[in-house]
Amino acid sequence: MKNSREAFRNLAVLITSSCKEGSKRWKTEALHKCDVIVYTKIFLKFPYCFWPCGPGKEFFIYAHERRGYYTFWQHMENAYPGSNLLVVTLTNGESKRVEAQSDRETLREAMSVLRDMFGPNIPNATEILVPRWWNNRFQRGSYSNYPIISDNQLAKNIKFSRINLWQVVREVQHSRNGVVVKTEDGSVYEANYLIVSASIGVLQSNLISFKPSLPRWKTEALHKCDVIVYTKIFLKFPYCFWPCGPGKEFFIYAHERRGYYTFWQHMENAYPGSNLLVVTLTNGESKRVEAQSDRETLREAMSVLRDMFGPNIPNATEILVPRWWNNRFQRGSYSNYPIISDNQLAKNIKAPVGRIFFTGEHTSEKFSGYVHGGYLAGISTSKSLLEEMEEKERRNENSSFLLEPLLAFTESLSLTTQTDSKVSNLHKCDIPNQFYLSQKLGIPEAIL
Ligand SMILES: Cc1cc2nc3c(=O)[nH]c(=O)nc-3n(C[C@H](O)[C@H](O)[C@H](O)COP(=O)(O)OP(=O)(O)OC[C@H]3O[C@@H](n4cnc5c(N)ncnc54)[C@H](O)[C@@H]3O)c2cc1C
Repeated sequence: MKNSREAFRNLAVLITSSCKEGSKRWKTEALHKCDVIVYTKIFLKFPYCFWPCGPGKEFFIYAHERRGYYTFWQHMENAYPGSNLLVVTLTNGESKRVEAQSDRETLREAMSVLRDMFGPNIPNATEILVPRWWNNRFQRGSYSNYPIISDNQLAKNIKFSRINLWQVVREVQHSRNGVVVKTEDGSVYEANYLIVSASIGVLQSNLISFKPSLPRWKTEALHKCDVIVYTKIFLKFPYCFWPCGPGKEFFIYAHERRGYYTFWQHMENAYPGSNLLVVTLTNGESKRVEAQSDRETLREAMSVLRDMFGPNIPNATEILVPRWWNNRFQRGSYSNYPIISDNQLAKNIKAPVGRIFFTGEHTSEKFSGYVHGGYLAGISTSKSLLEEMEEKERRNENSSFLLEPLLAFTESLSLTTQTDSKVSNLHKCDIPNQFYLSQKLGIPEAIL
């Protein structure tokens, strides 16, 4: 693998995991330089309390020649009166040792320590809970512990292991086997799956090139959906000259050109003393204003305001003109489905193409155009992807059963001429699954 390459196998899992593998050396070194603490709270339930309770009594400590051997004890009577629970905290080596033995053995050890402290007549615990944070493959420890002497760079290197900011995706190569993403700075990321969350405007533009191209049903659907440009221009004044007070927040300007600085709102209700006005433009007017200088827009807006409030109002001291249309990462503000459109359009906009999944407000059937649409779509897409991964895993398990008849069926793809060692597991199960099992992915995707 080239030096410039970053190999992230299975991006979807990486997003939620602590990632100790498959990265550049500086990354893996940084990840391994940081300790992982194992911190285990063992819970013991008793028929009654036999330990000191009451004000100022919650913790007790056991001293043993072996460091950390059932040292820190706490009762739960203050937090949960009547629970008759004791908690003993172990860390690191002791945690790992205890995780490796049976709960019965741990109970025996804990009881022997308690009898050492409170005498032989205390009752046995009736229940024990021993969490295994170290052996839990989704945790592998309890929390990170930076070395006492470490510089900022370590934190930076680790931080970027899961979210890479300031990376502009320019190319997505995809096949039955996986996805390769190339970014503007020349980095290359490999993954088993990809979720594309760019806006519909970006997908309609050529910022990201898909290789091979997305199928026609997908691009047609993406282009059938309108993109609204919605621009809020902010103007700051030395003082308010517009009507304020209860029931007064919006005013409207009528002009022969539709949408010409029509909707105005002051910010005094939300931000008293800010002396801000906001004017909202949309679509054609948004694009026109984006193309001209802010100075020209300020001149137009002031002329409209003077038309409404007279010539003596002060000039705005500042202006902010967002450019959602010309922003190559947005290409508009939000999606706007055609008034008459069937379910199929929404389905096609959302549907995965092979190993590429799509999300974002435009993929939300019910709430497209809104922030909560984007949020809900994110949940829904990740669920679909997880289902797909599970399904694939299940098919992998059954691959030996499916393999023979299905490879015979796909002979025209000349896969049967390859030796087993050349055909990955993914290949073996992919071909059959596309033809026999998948409702979602048609034959065109199967042979991408
Ligand atoms: C002026 C305005 C007012 C709005 N008002 C409301 C409102 O009142 N209520 C409401 O619910 N919604 C409102 N919306 C809509 C709301 O902002 C969107 O629905 C929401 O942001 C969509 O979220 P998303 O995650 O789907 O997409 P986005 O917010 O567009 O997120 C996509 C991300 O992908 C990044 N990206 C794109 N291409 C690339 C690339 N090639 N490489 C790397 N990164 C890339 C972008 O930079 C962006 O960060 C408004 C929008 C605007 C512009």
